[in-house]
Amino acid sequence: EPVPATAAVEAAAGIPAVPPVVGARLAVPLVDGRRVPYANLDHAASTPALEAVRDAVDELLPWYASVHRGAGFASQVCTRVHDQARDVLRRFVGAHRTDQVIFTRNTTDSLNLLAGALPRGTSVVLFDTEHHAALLPWRGPRVHRLRTPQSTGDAVLALDRALADCAVGPRLVVLTAASNVTGEVWPIAELSAVARRHGARVALDAAQLAPHRPVDIRALDVDWVALSGHKLYAPFGAGALVGRADWLRAAEPHLVGGGATASVTDRGDRLAVTWSTGPERHEAGSPNVVGVHALATACEAITRHGWDAVVEHERVLLHRLRAGLATVPGLRPLSLFGAEHDRVGVVSFTVDGLDSGLAAAVLSAEHGIGVRDGAFCAHVATARLLDRAGSSERRALRVSIGLGTTPEHVDRLVAALHTLVDGGP
Ligand code: PLP
Repeated sequence: EPVPATAAVEAAAGIPAVPPVVGARLAVPLVDGRRVPYANLDHAASTPALEAVRDAVDELLPWYASVHRGAGFASQVCTRVHDQARDVLRRFVGAHRTDQVIFTRNTTDSLNLLAGALPRGTSVVLFDTEHHAALLPWRGPRVHRLRTPQSTGDAVLALDRALADCAVGPRLVVLTAASNVTGEVWPIAELSAVARRHGARVALDAAQLAPHRPVDIRALDVDWVALSGHKLYAPFGAGALVGRADWLRAAEPHLVGGGATASVTDRGDRLAVTWSTGPERHEAGSPNVVGVHALATACEAITRHGWDAVVEHERVLLHRLRAGLATVPGLRPLSLFGAEHDRVGVVSFTVDGLDSGLAAAVLSAEHGIGVRDGAFCAHVATARLLDRAGSSERRALRVSIGLGTTPEHVDRLVAALHTLVDGGP
């Protein structure tokens, strides 16, 4: 029996304050020529833009001009829009007044930027469960990768031990706020308390948490937050790194070129370059003003809509999804910390006897449902969790919900899985 939708979910599915995402209205043709509304259950990969975002982009496009590089009116408009977006991002993650907001392409870019800004001899500690964007940018002998924990208590202990063993010098702990494989929310405040006891700084990969829950630098007591616009109901191409300025100000620029310099002078045998000490230091080149405006608009629209409504919408749909999945024979959910652990609307699983790649293709072609299959750019985590789940598969299916998800999408998925497994519910 599907779990009935509550009034809150029905109302949230309409999302009056933040209109339904553009994708919610798309219909897709199926193999027999029928058209059905597209059920996008792949929000963890990317989210379709909010209508508020589409409108904001439409409005800005006629004024498209260079930021901080022109005296014309359009250039002034774009400069103001770009500068305001920094304030929006600062508020969105509860940053300190002195923190920097650096616009990047996405979370991957943000974390690579931070990796390039570490003082010499920094020890980096992280779990091997990270998304590759957070797992791979750190190089050198002082990178300590901790094995996938069995419980949050395990994670706290492992981090404590690893930090105690670190060489003298700066330390950085890299944490993912919510897993893109299981949706489980990591105990960030607890882990950052451990980091603080050892004098370590903390960088948070908030790519998966930011679309689902408020992320607050001060409440979580972390130093940097990285996020992506395309997972936050804005288009591709804009992300941010927000946090402590000192290492960023002292670092070599992430990119070099125009906009990142305070001055360049010809000294005959060389160029003397003074790099900006503001966020522009790492943002050389003409900035992506439309992308940044879209990202800031999405942050504002979600905040205006209200986190309580976002969280409630996803809570009820996730409950419905998990209850539905529990009725599918042979379904093995992947989990880091156990079935009862707090999670956002992301669920990965295998189904005995069902090839995940084939299942994803059939869900799309015959049911109009978009999901993801594979190892989700977290190959180590996915392999470990498949082993833990007792699955012989090396790939899993991932279903992820967001603001455009409706109870019908969830029910259609569950019914389709039944059809795939045993010919019908
Ligand atoms: N971190 C997590 C947890 C993610 O889920 C993703 C994307 O799936 C990333 C980082 C990388 O994001 P992007 O591809 O936008 O850089």
